[in-house]
Formats: sequence, structure tokens, C-alpha cells
Amino acid sequence: MKRFYISAKTDEISKGLNNKLKDALFNNDWIEDEKSPEIVFTIGGDGTFLHAVHKYLNQLSKINFVGIHTGTLGFYTDYEAEEIDQLIQDVLFKQPKIEAIRMLKIETKNGKLKKGLYALNEARIENIIKTQTIHVYINDEYLEMFRGNGLCVSAQAGSTAYNRSINGAVMSMGIEGLQITEISGIHHRASRSLGSPLIVSSNSNIVFKNDTFSNAVLCYDYKHTSLDEMTEITIKLSNKKVKIARFRPTSYIRRLQSLF
Ligand code: NAD
Repeated sequence: MKRFYISAKTDEISKGLNNKLKDALFNNDWIEDEKSPEIVFTIGGDGTFLHAVHKYLNQLSKINFVGIHTGTLGFYTDYEAEEIDQLIQDVLFKQPKIEAIRMLKIETKNGKLKKGLYALNEARIENIIKTQTIHVYINDEYLEMFRGNGLCVSAQAGSTAYNRSINGAVMSMGIEGLQITEISGIHHRASRSLGSPLIVSSNSNIVFKNDTFSNAVLCYDYKHTSLDEMTEITIKLSNKKVKIARFRPTSYIRRLQSLF
């Protein structure tokens, strides 16, 4: 007997899968418990998975996630819609391997006022209204003055998401580190920054500072918050982990191939 919750998209395919899975779990005496589930199933895509993670942010240590995708094979989802029967068998009778993915911790600061946020894919500072200056520090050492639209920080899991669209490197499964990628960096005689994506070790402390981040937004996964009034943003890997129950191996290369 286990406590479960299903977070599903509202299209017809997802609804059908949701009903089938729920019936099978009820028939095996599982209990639906939205407040404190042990297993959370997501039906949809990587986006549906991210929403479920943020919904249970304060209970992550007690939850295992299982993802079913209704589109292309995702990075957080292991089963296709037509594999629903296989998924039910696996969940009822197999022991999974648990893959734990560390989330990013983002701290925004204005004087003494601090706010802590978490992201699985990435945290990015973006200003599309005016050129954003960002002074970049890695472990208290000054790296550069960046000027442009913004900077994106991701770890291995998020390297295939927004990071890939801005020509960041895809970090293969098993590689640890934090990647800083420029978003429309300005590079000319008067303004220079590294330009290429930079991968630093996973225990690094990345700090972005400026007198003002007025009009800039901090986007973290599908969420965002204004950076007006903020002067400092710290990003590092946290000890908060998202646990994915993997019942069978899916090749990372296969997942990558499904991206393009
Ligand atoms: P969404 O949920 O519609 O996702 C947008 C796309 O990003 C989808 O195709 C999704 O499958 C893919 N995606 C998400 N996480 C991924 C991962 N770890 N690896 C590979 N692909 C991944 O969009 P949303 O709700 O606005 O934002 C959720 C996430 O989508 C963000 O964290 C961001 O990484 C990503 N995103 C990417 C772009 C881009 O590449 N230009 C733009 C917006 C959002």
C-alpha cells in the first residue's frame, strides 16, 4: 500500500493515461494522497515534471518521481504513452534505482534582505529592456564584467534545456559542474567578457553583482521574479535533491537524439 499523486496535463491522451494508472493503483490498494505522497507520477513532458517538483519543493526528500511523456522522450520522463501497461507492472512489482538530482539554490539579496529560491533546470538573469551589467565572482574571486541581456546558470540536468538554446554545452549524464552561459553578450573594443560557456566545479559559489538590476528578471525553471531593488544574486548547488525512480535504463544518447 503506497500513497501516490498523479500530476497530469489536461489533454485527452494525458487524461486517459491518468485514469488507467489511477484504476490500476486503486486495484492494488494504493491510496491517492495529494498532500503527502510517496510517489508522484507526472504525465505530459519535462514541463509537467518541473511543475510537480515545485509543488512538492518542501517534501522532496520523501518523494520519488516517475515521469510518463506524451510527446517526445524527455530527460525527466522514462515511459511513452503506449508503455503505460509496462509502467504499471514496473511500479507494482519492480524495485527502482533512485537517481537523485541536486537543485540549484538561488539567493537574491538587497542589503540584509535575502530571498532563497530553487531550480532544477536553470536560473537566468535577463534584462530585455536595457543592457545589463553584471560583475561575476566565482568563489569570491572576480572573473569579469559582463554586459548584455544576461547570464544563465545550469547544472548537468538543465544543460539540455534553455542552456542549449544559447549555445551552452550539453553536459552528459554523470558529469558534475555548474555552467555559466551568456545571453546576448556584448563584445567589442570597450566591452569584453569570456564569451564562451564556462563550466566550474560543482561546489562553486557563483555571485552576480551590480548597483542595479532594475528591469531585470530572474527566471528559474518556469517561474520568475523581478530583480528590481536587488544588488546581488548567489547561485550554487543545494542539498535539495529531486529523486527520480528509474525502473529501467534509458540511454542518455537516445534521450539526446530525441531533442533534434
Ligand atoms: P515548457 O515546459 O513548455 O518547456 C519548453 C521546452 O523545454 C520543452 O520542449 C521541454 O521539453 C524542454 N525542456 C525542459 N526541461 C528540459 C531539460 N532538462 N532538457 C531538455 N529539454 C527540456 O516551458 P516553460 O514552462 O516555459 O519552462 C520550463 C523550462 O523550459 C525552462 O526551465 C527552460 O529550460 C525551458 N525553456 C527553454 C526555452 C528555450 O530553449 N529557448 C525557452 C523557454 C523555456
